[in-house]
Amino acid sequence: MRKKIVAGNWKMNTTIDEGLQLAREVNRLVDNDPGDVLVIVAPPFSHLSEIKKVLSVVALSAQNCASENRGAFTGEVSAEMIKSTGAEYVIIGHSERRTLFREEDEILLKKVKLALESDLIPIFCCGEKLSEREQGKHFITVQDQLASTLFMLEDKNFRQIIIAYEPVWAIGTGLNATPEQAQEMHEFIRRLIGQHFNTDISDAASILYGGSCKPSNAKELFDNPDVDGGLIGGASLNANDFFAIVKSI
Ligand code: PEP
Repeated sequence: MRKKIVAGNWKMNTTIDEGLQLAREVNRLVDNDPGDVLVIVAPPFSHLSEIKKVLSVVALSAQNCASENRGAFTGEVSAEMIKSTGAEYVIIGHSERRTLFREEDEILLKKVKLALESDLIPIFCCGEKLSEREQGKHFITVQDQLASTLFMLEDKNFRQIIIAYEPVWAIGTGLNATPEQAQEMHEFIRRLIGQHFNTDISDAASILYGGSCKPSNAKELFDNPDVDGGLIGGASLNANDFFAIVKSI
């Protein structure tokens, strides 16, 4: 059975005190009512070490890492540094990084490799823009994103990765993919993995959905056979909403 996962991407929100309060609350809710879902929170870099101290049943992720490990890269934070905070996961290739910070596939592949070398598990995001969906190019867009990044990895490394399908038009817009749209893309991604690697690997791969997922729509999205959980943005900033999403699996 593949792992069910719900991860909260806090983006550039919360001060350290606010973040600590949110992390404590999420940890308490999960601790009081544990299930078989892996729950992850991804606060800003500046909060990681402090938040690690208040988590016992919730795992910790960064939202990005540098594409180099050390050196004269002012303002960057490497995978090795993230690992040293106690985090175990790192989000790579979020659409905000791709669009606002112009991160391309070549850079993203370097980040994935460095994360794996530092023993961090990448949560790798892919997904099409609205114009690509409107032109019927959503499958080929996602296929190309995977072909030039994750499909360049060796089997043993690919097995570590968590994939998040996040249609860009659904992120932070309040407009989620329908359960049918999510399922058909997740099934497509799983089939690609099976063709490129093998079906043992595709059966075991956790593929999360992200994009305006909230307590009111999480269950219908997660009920799909190829949707193994969610990457949650806005709704992860409220502990009760986030936990309601966790409980929707
Ligand atoms: C995200 O940023 O990964 C995301 C899914 O955001 P939201 O849930 O707010 O759409």
